[in-house]
Amino acid sequence: MSIQSVDSHRHRVVIIGSGFGGLFGAQALKRADVDVTVVARTTHHLFQPLLYQVATGILSVGDIAPATRLVLRKQRNAQVLLGDVESIDLDSKKVTSRLLDRTTVTEYDSLIVAAGAGQSYFGNDHFAKFAPGMKTIDDALELRGRILGAFEQAELSQDPEERARLLTFVVVGAGPTGVELAGQIAELAHRTLKGAFRSIDPGSARVILLDGAPVVLPVYGGKLSANAAARLEKMGVEIQPNAMVTGVDADGLVVKDKDGSERRIESQCKVWSAGVQASPLGKQLGEQSGAEVDRAGRVHVLPDLTLPGHPEVFVIGDMMALDNLPGLAQVAMQGGKYAAKQIKANLAGDDRSTRQPFKYFDKGSMATISRFSAVAKVGKLEITGFIGWVAWLAIHLMYLVGFRSKFSTMLSWTVTFLGRGRAQMASTEQQVFARVAIEDLQDYERARHAGLIGDPAVVFTGEERAG
Ligand SMILES: Cc1cc2nc3c(=O)[nH]c(=O)nc-3n(C[C@H](O)[C@H](O)[C@H](O)COP(=O)(O)OP(=O)(O)OC[C@H]3O[C@@H](n4cnc5c(N)ncnc54)[C@H](O)[C@@H]3O)c2cc1C
Repeated sequence: MSIQSVDSHRHRVVIIGSGFGGLFGAQALKRADVDVTVVARTTHHLFQPLLYQVATGILSVGDIAPATRLVLRKQRNAQVLLGDVESIDLDSKKVTSRLLDRTTVTEYDSLIVAAGAGQSYFGNDHFAKFAPGMKTIDDALELRGRILGAFEQAELSQDPEERARLLTFVVVGAGPTGVELAGQIAELAHRTLKGAFRSIDPGSARVILLDGAPVVLPVYGGKLSANAAARLEKMGVEIQPNAMVTGVDADGLVVKDKDGSERRIESQCKVWSAGVQASPLGKQLGEQSGAEVDRAGRVHVLPDLTLPGHPEVFVIGDMMALDNLPGLAQVAMQGGKYAAKQIKANLAGDDRSTRQPFKYFDKGSMATISRFSAVAKVGKLEITGFIGWVAWLAIHLMYLVGFRSKFSTMLSWTVTFLGRGRAQMASTEQQVFARVAIEDLQDYERARHAGLIGDPAVVFTGEERAG
């Protein structure tokens, strides 16, 4: 194992994460007299709102995940370090990250923490093995393989019960991601795969969207929720409200209804889009600074997005709790830009105590239901149907990073929405099985380290496995 230090002389800004908050923060420092170091656990910036289109074969990974290093190539004051941040030391102003067996310590003068959030199973992490979430590229590719694999297995099955299980897709959580995913699985079954199988009718697939809330898209409510539900039902999606998932296994899930009764749904392909849990780095920051950390792991920040007693440390995006702001890309982007502005102002001699508080400018939120149909809320204005969908299209294209991504996405959308085709219908065995295999291997190694099982004949090191 090697430990190295990254040293520089100008004001050092370290940014954790290359998502919306991290990348927009870094770019906002382009002309500042600072050295920016982005430390992130992935080599890419991920446009999460379109992950579901990767999962359902519309877009490629490259369309929504440009390499951060290439995005920042022309920003001379920025460097990118790949690594999983394991600890932040607020007293010594150091960030420690790890890549395989290599530990890197990066010192900062200002720190922007934008490590986002992961999936939450509300204390039932064992559900994840059978109902993966949708947070990363790996998740989306695994899901694509699971969806397409279920149709393939159904084509081979002669047993009606097994076929029914294979052709039942369950999406848990009827927020924007769940709604978009359910809509796209239904369109895939009814339009894209129509006529492609000989023994099964893909259009007979059941797509179930369930949620503990009484309506879909509960954050919108009223007319928009009703409009989304009506459109989904027209597409053949079965909406099951007031339904709490109490168990998940390889062959299905157990659901508790409002009246307290439990029932089972047989389904091979389940997706979890029901909750989020902020990065565990938030807990560390709370312990060291005294900032409150809520149940979802978000850090209660001061009005200038910093930690108590640490005006040099900003916590932004999905990791922060402030004024009940939602976990949206715009909140993270505006937070990143705000933090950059404060850093520049302080370097120009402004007093930190006179900072204006962060003010979120609400540009609205939206969810697409199917091709040509979306719901959007901008202030008091509520938009549905085709106009909503055009607005959705324009806004997503605007915020995709890079001209190439915008162009190829536009092309894929034309093929999919005007025709029936989807360009990204390939999936591999590794995409489907690697996550569970890696988790099993990690469980095995943990048990071995704890002395619960003996040493195997051959032990692989991290480097050998990576090679
Ligand atoms: C499927 C899905 C659909 C969504 N749809 C919408 C939508 O339609 N509209 C909308 O406004 N919002 C949407 N969101 C929410 C939006 O994507 C988030 O609010 C936004 O990404 C938050 O930005 P962030 O910078 O805080 O975190 P992220 O964008 O999640 O970035 C976090 C970054 O930190 C890195 N990281 C995490 N932990 C570590 C660590 N320990 N060390 C190093 N790096 C680390 C990650 O690799 C990543 O680069 C969606 C989210 C998902 C998952």
